[in-house]
Amino acid sequence: MVKDELWVGIDLGGTWVRVAVSDENGHFVAKTSEKVDKSSAKAISNQMIRLTRFLCKEHGFEVKSLKGVGIAATGPLVQGEGVLIHPTAMPFDSVPITRPISDELDVPSCLINDAAGAALGEKMFGATKGLDNYAYVTISTGIGCGAIVNGTLLLGKDGNAHEVGHIVIDYEGRLTCGCGRRGHWEAYCSGSNIPNFIRMRLKDEPRKTVEESLLFRMVGGDLSRLSAVDLFAAAEKADNISARLVEEIGVLNAIGFANVINAYDPSLITVGGTVTLKNRAMILNPIRKHVKDYALNRIPKIKVTPLGDDVGLYGAVAVALTCISGVDNTRLHDEIPPR
Ligand SMILES: [Zn+2]
Repeated sequence: MVKDELWVGIDLGGTWVRVAVSDENGHFVAKTSEKVDKSSAKAISNQMIRLTRFLCKEHGFEVKSLKGVGIAATGPLVQGEGVLIHPTAMPFDSVPITRPISDELDVPSCLINDAAGAALGEKMFGATKGLDNYAYVTISTGIGCGAIVNGTLLLGKDGNAHEVGHIVIDYEGRLTCGCGRRGHWEAYCSGSNIPNFIRMRLKDEPRKTVEESLLFRMVGGDLSRLSAVDLFAAAEKADNISARLVEEIGVLNAIGFANVINAYDPSLITVGGTVTLKNRAMILNPIRKHVKDYALNRIPKIKVTPLGDDVGLYGAVAVALTCISGVDNTRLHDEIPPR
């Protein structure tokens, strides 16, 4: 491999930051991850700079030989300025990303919403090569989407065109989202909010039914300790009430997917994110079963991304390749000025 053709991809999530050094074919030659340092807004870019330098040193690459850095980050963001604005997973008004990275490493960098980046990664390295109309949906700590329509990655004025986790699926707004608004898809079905949905729903069930459930016993009778992991584990062991709740979450997910299908008319939807990857059948089967009840458009294939946990990293590398080197023909060059 030619060492002067190396790119860096950074996947900045709400909990973890992952960094990979990659060649232009998406072969990772070095990779690392850490919990996000949220001690200050500046600490976040400092951590990404430190991890990039660490990987280069460990593997004998010169930082100056890097061709560019792509960052796929949890939003919302202002793409043109390379800044996160009030990110839902971090307690800061503004988190500068591209300017400090480019200034410190002396390489061009560009920023994209993580799910939009993943859609681009899927096209370059995953399941949607050759497709002009598809969407990627992540069900993880939050819920996000990236959509390519007629070969164009949809971005929007600030790069937040696909914040589908915050579409309203419950007009009564019974649950409040991490963004502070009510009734959003993510408030019911994301990994961090499924416990709120369970607690709300269990109030409707007879006390005796709840107390006799495996789910109740798994948390020692303390529903404040509930996690999404407990729900899927109990459902897998045929706990009746947990299986019903998983199905109900599937119906809500089907409503979300129907909105994606009605808005973007994709020929394929790939799905990723920790909640999906750890519970493939329990997440996808109810969506496939119920989505036709809500979607107007022809239903596309819906399948798990082949890129697994690394889909965000592939997305970050893909955005660097696309907006800095222009190797891919997906139309987004004008919208993301690299720094
Ligand atoms: Zn929201």
